[in-house]
Amino acid sequence: MHELGLINYVVDEVSKIAEEQNVKKIHSVTLQFGEVSGIVTSYLHDYWKWYTKKFPLFEGAELFTEEIPAVTWCDDCKITYSTVEYGKTCPHCGSGNTWLLRGNEMMIKDVVVEDVTEGSEGKLDAQGEYTPQ
Ligand SMILES: [Zn+2]
Repeated sequence: MHELGLINYVVDEVSKIAEEQNVKKIHSVTLQFGEVSGIVTSYLHDYWKWYTKKFPLFEGAELFTEEIPAVTWCDDCKITYSTVEYGKTCPHCGSGNTWLLRGNEMMIKDVVVEDVTEGSEGKLDAQGEYTPQ
């Protein structure tokens, strides 16, 4: 139920921002998440669909996802390599002295909203800043 928790979080965050900015309608939300975060995209879309039917704010809103490639750092040879390809063992020196640099995170990249006053579209970033476009 990892994905359900995630969608809950996203819907909460976006709702809060929308309320602050007096946004009545969300057009789309783009999420970025790491390659090894274990998130199953199809589940995300299933849960998302349910929310778009339940909340008017999200009615018809699209969910886009982008993957962040996972990168591991080798402490012995001070280089980075692809986590998915080589796992925890450095392909250069065979060391297990390695750390996941990125690839396990999740963030809301952007939120596209309808500007109710202008009837045009704008962007709302996760910090709550609204930029008309
Ligand atoms: Zn190494």
